[in-house]
Amino acid sequence: MTRKPDIKSLTLSGLEELTREMNWESYRARQLFSWLWQKDATGFDAMTNLGKDRCRQLADRFRIGKLVQDSVLRDEDGTTKFSWRLDDGAVVESVYIPEPGRKTVCISTQVGCGLGCELCYTAKAGLERDLGWHEIAGQVQAVQQRVEDRVTNVVLMGMGEPFLNYEPVLEAVRAVNSDFGINIGARRITVSTAGIPDRIRDYARFPLQSKLAVSLNASDDETRNRLMPINRTHQLEELMSAVREFTRVKGKRVTFEYVLLDGINNRRKDIHQLAKLLRDVPCKVNLIPFNRFPDTSLRPPPPADVERFAKSLYPLLPAVTVRRSRGSAILAGCGQLAGRINR
Ligand code: SF4
Repeated sequence: MTRKPDIKSLTLSGLEELTREMNWESYRARQLFSWLWQKDATGFDAMTNLGKDRCRQLADRFRIGKLVQDSVLRDEDGTTKFSWRLDDGAVVESVYIPEPGRKTVCISTQVGCGLGCELCYTAKAGLERDLGWHEIAGQVQAVQQRVEDRVTNVVLMGMGEPFLNYEPVLEAVRAVNSDFGINIGARRITVSTAGIPDRIRDYARFPLQSKLAVSLNASDDETRNRLMPINRTHQLEELMSAVREFTRVKGKRVTFEYVLLDGINNRRKDIHQLAKLLRDVPCKVNLIPFNRFPDTSLRPPPPADVERFAKSLYPLLPAVTVRRSRGSAILAGCGQLAGRINR
């Protein structure tokens, strides 16, 4: 027996089209969207303001899909990694990071990733497929349900390169932000990229105020070519030009993520190169000591070296922070997500 289509795969405009086709009033699409994405309805019967007849018509044609939890791992600090099994058996991961005053969820945008960054465990999985917009936004909803709390911040920094799955990612950001969707402020949503210049320029024109993070990890092309093969196609100069355009058009600063790798990108010369590279870009630099994963010879610098690097960089750039590692013991840290191969 073939399964009915998942109504959650329909965007708001898809629902508007559906309501037109059914000769319903146009406001019904918003009501329906709100039942699906704000009130977390799991059955059509619950949608009382639609009326019994409309609920029945929907139930005849659709099902309400949900992410099925495959596993959950909780670190001592409360960081929790969820694996979700999708309709086709694919597995993706999301990480919930509770901190005082802030509950962040890091979500995936693809099943695996095809960009092959040496410093990232996800790369080992290769790219299986893109996620649908509802599978991306659905991770926020599913985490909220599991932790029984409101998520305050969302980072699209999990498995996959968001800008290689661009339209579904933006649709997910709209639904997460919508006040009749998940309703999280746009300024609390961050899309992170390895550096796809054309898409960074497009994202500068995206009307919501969601933020941009760039996974930089090196201050010269030679080192970045090794760590992040995308740099062989889009070198630093091209990337930085797109980032400058983003900051100009949006009037916003950008966050650069810089994973510190001992002996590779934490040399004295990296401090000066990095400061020079970023000197005319409104930005914050987030230093992240490398999180280990299986089968890699890469390692984080000793903590004292991380401090030294941050202290030397700080006077040269407007904002430098060191990100405390969260969830690395359960392979939930930055660069450690890998879905199926983590199991
Ligand atoms: S760092 Fe990002 S872009 Fe690179 S392989 Fe990992 S998930 Fe893909």
